[in-house]
Amino acid sequence: MKRMKGVKVPHMKSTGDSIPARMTDLDIAVYPMVQHIGTPCKPVCRPGDPVYVGTLLGQKNGGLSSPIYSGVSGTVNKIEDILLSDGRYAPAVYVLPDGKMTPDPTIAPPTVTDLQGFIHAVEDSGIVGLGGAGFPTGVKLHVGDSSRIQEIIINGAECEPYITSDTRTMLDRGQDMQEGIRLLQKYLGAKKIIIAVEKNKPTCIRAMRSIAGGDDTVSVKVLPSVYPQGAEKVLIYHTTGKVVPEGGLPIDVGVIVLNCTTLAEIARYIRTGMPLVEKCVTVDGSAVASPMNVIVPIGATLEAVFNFCGAFKAQPGKVLYGGPMMGVSVPELSMPVLKQTNALLALDAKDAAPVDAANCIRCGRCTNVCPVGLAPVSIAAAYGSGSMETLQKIHTNLCMECGCCSYVCPAKRPLVQQNKLAKAALAAWLKSNR
Ligand code: SF4
Ligand code: SF4
Repeated sequence: MKRMKGVKVPHMKSTGDSIPARMTDLDIAVYPMVQHIGTPCKPVCRPGDPVYVGTLLGQKNGGLSSPIYSGVSGTVNKIEDILLSDGRYAPAVYVLPDGKMTPDPTIAPPTVTDLQGFIHAVEDSGIVGLGGAGFPTGVKLHVGDSSRIQEIIINGAECEPYITSDTRTMLDRGQDMQEGIRLLQKYLGAKKIIIAVEKNKPTCIRAMRSIAGGDDTVSVKVLPSVYPQGAEKVLIYHTTGKVVPEGGLPIDVGVIVLNCTTLAEIARYIRTGMPLVEKCVTVDGSAVASPMNVIVPIGATLEAVFNFCGAFKAQPGKVLYGGPMMGVSVPELSMPVLKQTNALLALDAKDAAPVDAANCIRCGRCTNVCPVGLAPVSIAAAYGSGSMETLQKIHTNLCMECGCCSYVCPAKRPLVQQNKLAKAALAAWLKSNR
């Protein structure tokens, strides 16, 4: 099987051995009503309302949405719009914690007896793709006839530099993952489950082989350590040899992909009824005093999380949600940890220094590394000339924003940024021409 392309990146996973420390002491918790791909939630609380850990703050709104729960106990302080890292505004619920972390007394395990009950439970749990994608997991499981499912891939390919939160799931939450696998077998009728891990994680490979042991329907696939190995289409191809068609979904080739932490959280919800209220986050980067993994109540501000890690040893030049390849720059440390936050990086001024882009030298490296065979130079040219027809013709929408092209460009062209702008312009054009 030919490999999809990609790049070798330095791993810099110094926190891989860091057993997550639990953070509970917060001054404020902030819950934007968008923490998923899809429609924002509707707040269901008012200022002055008491809340507990696991109390519903925002109910799902439409098919592609996911409920949002409080990660702390306390009192709703206010509801007001907040600027998100993608430039949009959304309502956010602010909770003043009481420091007690009292669980909501109504929490109870869901009653699940069949596939529909399982899917509804996953929808109610507030779980979204926890590897960073944020796609509502319950929606992903709505595949109609479950006999369409030939393989379920558990994604343990944590390919971005620095990030080790999924590594900790594989090392620390094997029992949750095993329970999750049993649930997939019982309710989705999964006949083949493949846990995919890159070969640079030998301890994870051993842990995953141990939870798969004795079950012929569960296997571990060891993958090369190439970025972006964990990207859904790349993972499916390297694990099964199947190619997801353009515009299609993994289920179109009989596959469902679930991130390993997502799987562990599903098991925990079905067992306890406690929805998604906390997240293991890797905190790292050259400006961070004590890089580590932290279990953070969702809603904690980034400032509080960095302070928990010994604050900054140098003035950060840039703070990112996520890793250096696909991470999104954070404008304010008052922004919160979201459901899909798996890492926070603070880079010092040297690491964050902007680079001056030079003219393209037509070396072709950007095209050579693109996992989906795009030509970033052509995308940039078509976007620059405003030719939406060309952007469509050269499959701009396939760009997964992995950043490989920018990473290898000797001229330091801002290719992935241009691709994002081009995709947004193309999507708006297609919508207006429907
Ligand atoms: S064009 Fe898109 S998919 Fe291809 S390397 Fe660049 S960012 Fe990745
Ligand atoms: S890698 Fe950079 S310099 Fe080379 S062709 Fe692509 S944009 Fe031009």
